Amino acid sequence: MGGYIMQLQDFSVNDGEGIRTIIFMAGCPLRCAWCSNPEGQTLRNPMTRWAEAGEIIEHIRHQAIFYRSSGGGVTFSGGEATAQPDFLAELAGELYDEGFDLAIETCGFFSFDRLRPTLLKMGRIFMDLKCLDSAKHRAFTGVDNGLILKNLSKTAALGVPMTIRIPTILGVNATDEDMAAAFDFIAGSCRGASLELLPYHRYGEAKYAQLGLRAPGSEFGTPSPEQLERWLGMARERGIETVSFK
Ligand code: SF4
Repeated sequence: MGGYIMQLQDFSVNDGEGIRTIIFMAGCPLRCAWCSNPEGQTLRNPMTRWAEAGEIIEHIRHQAIFYRSSGGGVTFSGGEATAQPDFLAELAGELYDEGFDLAIETCGFFSFDRLRPTLLKMGRIFMDLKCLDSAKHRAFTGVDNGLILKNLSKTAALGVPMTIRIPTILGVNATDEDMAAAFDFIAGSCRGASLELLPYHRYGEAKYAQLGLRAPGSEFGTPSPEQLERWLGMARERGIETVSFK
């Protein structure tokens, strides 16, 4: 069994506890207008490669000493980590059986019944919530948010530690109304999940050029630290724990 990946990134401290290896898996069903990982949207492109599960597992075993000393482990990311569900299940199953701490970052657009056994092997689940307004969600990501909202609530009910991440983007969702709607949804339908706001950045621009694609325009902006802190305060007022892994 194998699949397409962008890279294995060791010594990461941003996507889970401790020192981690991030497995950047290729493919994504969304087309977010602000995406900073355009090379992750398709399975096959000049910035992805085929990898056998055994090769990845062997790589992880060699990093085990760093996870043990830091309380770290392995995080599945992308692209979209669930876009190759059988490959993900194979990797997660083997690594879980070997005792590695696992985390996943997902956009939430997946078949819950198919993913459920894999999600239950995770020590933490990071799931994105981009926008409650379905028309706006479709306009900016190419898909309706109905499935994602259902999966957010179903995943929160699994009892696995969960952090909901909102990419916070001026020109898309960085308004008091959008944030209030998102926080009300989390407080009402995703009990126990913590919240992380991820301010928009433009780090992916060079990759667009490498792939011959047009980079996101200047219509998107980054909220100020003061705005972010105010929105975090609004979330805490609703009883939501706020966290930062970045
Ligand atoms: S979900 Fe993530 S990888 Fe997929 S298009 Fe959106 S930002 Fe890019």
